[in-house]
Amino acid sequence: MTNRMKYCIANFKMNKNRIECKEYIDNLYENIHNDGYYGNGNKIRMIICPPFHSLDACQDKVTTDAGLYFGSQNVSQYENGSYTGEISASMLNHIGSEYVIIGHSERRAHFNESNDTINKKIKISIENCLLPIFCIGETRDQREENLIKKTLTKQLSIGLSGVNNSNFVIAYEPVWAIGTGQTATSEIITATHKMIRNILNDIGFDGKKISILYGGSVNRSNAKELIALSDVDGFLIGGASLDIEHFYEIYKFIEEST
Ligand code: PEP
Repeated sequence: MTNRMKYCIANFKMNKNRIECKEYIDNLYENIHNDGYYGNGNKIRMIICPPFHSLDACQDKVTTDAGLYFGSQNVSQYENGSYTGEISASMLNHIGSEYVIIGHSERRAHFNESNDTINKKIKISIENCLLPIFCIGETRDQREENLIKKTLTKQLSIGLSGVNNSNFVIAYEPVWAIGTGQTATSEIITATHKMIRNILNDIGFDGKKISILYGGSVNRSNAKELIALSDVDGFLIGGASLDIEHFYEIYKFIEEST
């Protein structure tokens, strides 16, 4: 048993309009209240990451007691200025976002985000009181070529370069498991989370104090088994988070494990 914070994080990606987001949040809030989970925000946080346009629509439901928070799916690496289409960390903070997903494999793959850019985003987010949910993970090729440790070490050491506190959460998301239905096995997750804690120690952090989440085809059928793994501190969930019943059931598994 550790006292690391547990997380249940929904990544809506580019799905749901404002009305759908608002309905979803209202529903979640009611469920948390009705089921008596209100007041558990000190041990488990549920974080909803809707598209930017819905963040402020969710703001009135942010409560520490309910443990319900909001996060964004991206942030600019720049402070402000002539960067058309970008949104800054301070702007996000201003509309109630307290967390931000950084380094998601879809942003690395489709928007060419490098480890250096990710590092800038992590630093500017922390400076503006946003807590980064820092995604790392190897591709299938890297796994097959035995490059897992090398890949994760590079992502972590560059991504966290110049970061001198532990105000971040790690999400281990093997790229081959995201949206594919091919969840990593318990053995892979256990071994890789241990590896990540060791790498964190090697680069100057205290690995045992940092929450490490798993992401990659988590659903209500596998969540109970995965959350029982001692090094898993919660989940980052894409597809299954779009259905409130599925997401809430996963949340309850985490809640019961705390
Ligand atoms: C994700 O997008 O971060 C993710 C884990 O997606 P999925 O749960 O659909 O695999």
